[in-house]
Amino acid sequence: MSVRPEPLGMPLDFSTKVKGRRGKPPQHFADLNADGVVEVLTELNQPRYRAAQIATHYFSRFSASPAEMTDLPTALRDQLTERIFPTLMKASRVLSADDGTTVKTLWHLFDQARVESVLMRYPNRTTLCISSQAGCGMACPFCATGQLGLTRNLSVAEIVEQVRAAARSLADGEIPGGPTNLNNIVFMGMGEPLANYRAIMGTVRALVTPAPWGMGMSARNITVSTVGLVPAMRKLADEGIPVTLALSLHAPDDDLRSELVPINTRWSVNEALDAARHYFDVTGRRVSIEYALIKDMNDHAWRADLLGRKLNARGRGWVHVNPIPLNPTPGSIWTASEPEVEREFVARLRAHGIPTTIRDTRGSDIDGACGQLAAVEEEQPA
Ligand code: SF4
Repeated sequence: MSVRPEPLGMPLDFSTKVKGRRGKPPQHFADLNADGVVEVLTELNQPRYRAAQIATHYFSRFSASPAEMTDLPTALRDQLTERIFPTLMKASRVLSADDGTTVKTLWHLFDQARVESVLMRYPNRTTLCISSQAGCGMACPFCATGQLGLTRNLSVAEIVEQVRAAARSLADGEIPGGPTNLNNIVFMGMGEPLANYRAIMGTVRALVTPAPWGMGMSARNITVSTVGLVPAMRKLADEGIPVTLALSLHAPDDDLRSELVPINTRWSVNEALDAARHYFDVTGRRVSIEYALIKDMNDHAWRADLLGRKLNARGRGWVHVNPIPLNPTPGSIWTASEPEVEREFVARLRAHGIPTTIRDTRGSDIDGACGQLAAVEEEQPA
C-alpha cells in the first residue's frame, strides 16, 4: 500500500535511551497519500473520487469520524471506520489556563503511551505545540520528558491527529474568543523531532499540502525544533519546505552544553551552529536559537557574550535568539533565572546586535513544560 512519500534513507535513529518497544499504531487515513486512499477505496469497490471527498472532511473540516461524512454511503462509512479511521488517541486529561485560552491535553495512544499537546490562543494568532515522540531519548537533565526516557516514535497520523484535533476545537469555537483557525505549529512538545525524521516530514507535508490533500498551511508558520542532530538539520535544509528551524542550544560552550544537552558530545556547539547557518543559507529562513535560562547554570553575562560572538562569527541577520525562563520540573534542582539576570542576558545579546526576544511561558501553572503532565501520570498511573 502507498504511504506518504518518505525522505531518503539515511539512518536517523538517534535514540539513546529506549524504555520499551511497543507495537506499531494501526494504520490511519493520515498515514496514507492520495494513492494509498484510492487503493483502499478500490479494495472496497468504491470510485476513486471518494478519496478527495474523504480528504476534504479530514483536512478541511477536521473530521476523523466517518459517521460525520454524510455525503458518503452509510455502508462505506462503517467500512472506513474499521479500515482507516481507528481511534488513535484519547484525551485523558485536559487542563486549561489563561482564562481558557491555553489548553493542554494529555493523550493516551493505542498502546497507552502518553503524549501532550498545548494549544495557545493569543489576540491575533493561535499556536499549537505538538509532540513527535512518546517520551524522549535525549536525556536533558532539566527536562521532565528527558527523565521519562523514550517510549517510541509517533506515527505520522499520531502527530497529524494532534493538529487536526486542535484545529477542530478552534473551528468549533471551544476556545474562548469565537471560532477561529489554527495558524502556527511548533514541534516543541515531547520528543526530539529530528530523531523521528520520517514521521515529522510526513506531518509537515500533510500540513503544507493544499486542500483537499492537506491543511494548506504556510511552511514559515511551522517550527521544527532540535537539540542539534546535525546530519538531520542538513537534510532538512534540502527538503525544499522552508519550515522555521529552532536550535535548542542552552549553552554556548561545549563543557556546559554536554552536561545540559548530552547529544552535544556527538555534535558540538560549533557543529550545531554551522548546521544552523547552513539551514539559513539554503532556505533563507532565519533560524531561532532557543536558550532555557537556568539559574546560576547557563545565565552568566559572559555566556551571553560568548553566544553573541559565536553567532556573529557566522554572519549577521541569520539568527534570532529566544531565551526562555526555565519552567522548573517539580522536585528538580533546576530553576529559572532571576528577572534581573534574564534582563542582563538579553541586553548583552542585543549589544552584540543579535535580535533577542524572551519567549513567553504560557501554561506554566498547568505543568506547561513539555512532559510534566505525562511525568506526573507516570508516577500516578490513571
Ligand atoms: S529538552 Fe527536548 S530533547 Fe531534551 S530531553 Fe526534553 S524533550 Fe528531549
